[in-house]
Amino acid sequence: MRFERFSSPLGQPYIADIEEIPFYHYLPGERVLVLEVPGCPLHCAYCDRVPLARSQDWSPYEPLRVADSVASLASEPGFAGIVWDGGEPSLHWDNVVQCAHSVHALGRKVGVATNGGLTADLLADTPGTVDMLLVRFKGFTEETYHALGAAPRILASSQALVEQALNMGVHVELMLDIARQTQQQEQEYTDMLNWILQDLRRSIPLHLRAIAPEHGFTIREGPVMPFLENLVESARRQHVGFVYLSNCHGHFFNNTMCPNCYSVVIDRTTSPLDLSLVTDGKCGQCGTDLALTLEKENL
Ligand code: SF4
Repeated sequence: MRFERFSSPLGQPYIADIEEIPFYHYLPGERVLVLEVPGCPLHCAYCDRVPLARSQDWSPYEPLRVADSVASLASEPGFAGIVWDGGEPSLHWDNVVQCAHSVHALGRKVGVATNGGLTADLLADTPGTVDMLLVRFKGFTEETYHALGAAPRILASSQALVEQALNMGVHVELMLDIARQTQQQEQEYTDMLNWILQDLRRSIPLHLRAIAPEHGFTIREGPVMPFLENLVESARRQHVGFVYLSNCHGHFFNNTMCPNCYSVVIDRTTSPLDLSLVTDGKCGQCGTDLALTLEKENL
């Protein structure tokens, strides 16, 4: 659905299911207003948003207009708030912070999806701005980032951001682009899992984004699937709780499974989402915590 209350040279803000961002463990089944911003510090060869990523054309969102829109959307059930996406939201951070104040004043949530531009220091300097954060990783070596034209040490910066956000109580989900079916790709994935296990928490959601332009960016089948499925199964063997194939729409590995008893607790192959197998954020079968945020607690 398009949301026609703004004008933007790059396209209209739009309303999406929160799972489309993707956030799978924060207010599942709710919807958000997505505000896209131009510019990106990376130059991925497989970029599917070149006009947005390379544009310099920008005028800030007016906080009062954003608030007005959020207020009208908030009268509908299941509206969570806004999510900044792009492009790279950290390039327009003052605008993000200003609008966040307006949205929070209405008791709604603010999400940010970053490609690595947002830093731990910027987040720490603006506490209370972000409720949910998606950190997209392009690989898990500095060399992979270097090949994408990134500044030095952007991988380390993204890792520091995740750790800072968790320390601040921000809900965090991770994404890793899977652009190659190679041993190097598997090694980077293994290194990321080890970081999750050693320095983060095994319940943090990790979305694998399959990059296969020849099959489209919404993948259902094809030669990449066995490779991707092996990656998910490898994480499950190591008890990393929630790894998803989130752009393989309709795939079983988009479901949330209890990491203890393996019951499917949220089936994402159906719509609307059925949360009846979740009890107070726990598995309805065995009581294991599912690391879900289900309530807008300050409303
Ligand atoms: S990070 Fe995303 S928007 Fe930026 S160049 Fe890469 S694919 Fe495009």
